[in-house]
Amino acid sequence: MSKATDPERILLVEDDERIRLEVLDALQAGGFVVSVAATLKEATDLVQNGFDLVLLDLGLPDGDGLDLCRSLRASGDDMPIILLTARDAPEQRVRGLDVGADDYVVKPFHMPELVARIRGLLRRSGSKTATGLLRAD
Ligand code: CA
Repeated sequence: MSKATDPERILLVEDDERIRLEVLDALQAGGFVVSVAATLKEATDLVQNGFDLVLLDLGLPDGDGLDLCRSLRASGDDMPIILLTARDAPEQRVRGLDVGADDYVVKPFHMPELVARIRGLLRRSGSKTATGLLRAD
């Protein structure tokens, strides 16, 4: 029973505490409901709860964020994913988009730009969900 006024839920995966708190503040100020994970394992567990969007750091202490992205897509999950990456080599970005990420921002990023990208992606995925909600079970 979701209402149009329900806040969107975001999973923030980032092991750098300073960046995590900064992004968390910005998202909460923007009216989002945010869950945080600092490791790939936490993220993998939490993501099962379902989110409207995932912000995914690539360099995590126990693995690579790309693996989570890849496994979500392999299981048919198309929840919007934005990669947070310090890797500015073009081939890394291409690889992220290749495994199914929707967008990426390179650190250090400008917080208003990140929030704007989130809103843009949610608008696009929202219209898609409204017209094509499929349940596998
Ligand atoms: Ca990191």
